[in-house]
Amino acid sequence: MPRPSPDRHARHRRIRGPRPTDEPRPTNEPRPTDEPRPTNEPRAPVTNDSDSQDDMTRERARSERRDVDLERGELLAGGAARGGPRALRRAAKPLGHWSSRPRILITNDDGIESRGLLALKQALDPIGETTVVAPDTNQSAVGHQKTLMRPLRVRERTLTDGAIAYSVDGSPTDAVSLAFLGYFGHGFDLVASGINYGANLGDDITYSGTVSAAMEAVINGCPAFAISQEYYEHPDFSLAAAAASIVTRNILEHGLSPGQLINVNVPAVSIEDCEGIAVTRLGKRVYQDQLIRRLDPRGIPYFWIGGPPPSGLAVEGTDFHAVVNRWIAVTPIQLDLTARRLLKRMRDWRWDLSADSITAVPAAHEIAGAAAEPLPDAGRPATPTEIEETREATGS
Ligand code: MN
Repeated sequence: MPRPSPDRHARHRRIRGPRPTDEPRPTNEPRPTDEPRPTNEPRAPVTNDSDSQDDMTRERARSERRDVDLERGELLAGGAARGGPRALRRAAKPLGHWSSRPRILITNDDGIESRGLLALKQALDPIGETTVVAPDTNQSAVGHQKTLMRPLRVRERTLTDGAIAYSVDGSPTDAVSLAFLGYFGHGFDLVASGINYGANLGDDITYSGTVSAAMEAVINGCPAFAISQEYYEHPDFSLAAAAASIVTRNILEHGLSPGQLINVNVPAVSIEDCEGIAVTRLGKRVYQDQLIRRLDPRGIPYFWIGGPPPSGLAVEGTDFHAVVNRWIAVTPIQLDLTARRLLKRMRDWRWDLSADSITAVPAAHEIAGAAAEPLPDAGRPATPTEIEETREATGS
């Protein structure tokens, strides 16, 4: 089993500061999630920071408590599970064999008031102890944004089913980060993100705040899935809720290996009209974005990315193909974005740092017989392909 190198360990220690005790750190031990817990009630968040404390004190208090599970005295998932190969799988077992209810963190990118978030929480309430922490405003398409240059505020909220939830004035990634940096004083067995208004298919996952929240969980050593639903005029989440429940049970029973998550997309149909659940690969999105140029009331132009919703290539086996054919698409995703085939090909390229390999490229006219034609894109102006200007805005 590969273990973290001493260098990596040293770096980790340097960033987080010295350990509070001199005891050797059990870096590679997986978090024993199946140990009986003293209580099933989720702990109240650590709120001992008073506003009168100066920022430095608060910073120190936060970095001290982020390492240890305040309830069990164990390292948090972000510390202990990281680097332990197959730690996520080791915790998996049939639901009946869990000695306590799994802890499930629920988040999204549409914001704390989204009905999809509530539907996801209510779908998973029967399976585990759910905790809801989500952005306070819609953060769709923020990707994996993490807020580092300003403070984050957390507010306690009451959902429409009476449950307590927490909103963060940041991104979905911030919400998940808070949880894994010790806000709740314990770790989680699973993170579920959604139910997003609108599908996240193929290339969408590179923009998606919903999927990024699940990625942030995986980076913190916790299994996760993202779930999105095609746009409904009047959203009905019963099919998506059923899918969320099935995916949750499967992950808790089978586990995910480190670096893996599951992306779920639900078609906008009723349960009766759905064909079933298909295990798919990522498809290819076709975006139809347009740059809309208008003038503000002071005559200064502004730009807005608009256009019709994206389409996609309906290739069999892809998530896009499944959803357009009324299947629920379940796609395994990994954080390792290495292009394996290119990696192999690049080994044959020229990489030596010797002087003769660092050569200036001759201009095209210096090469005898070189075509004078510019490259296909070179002559195209940098202006948008589609410009719409309203007559109203121009004042004409
Ligand atoms: Mn969204």
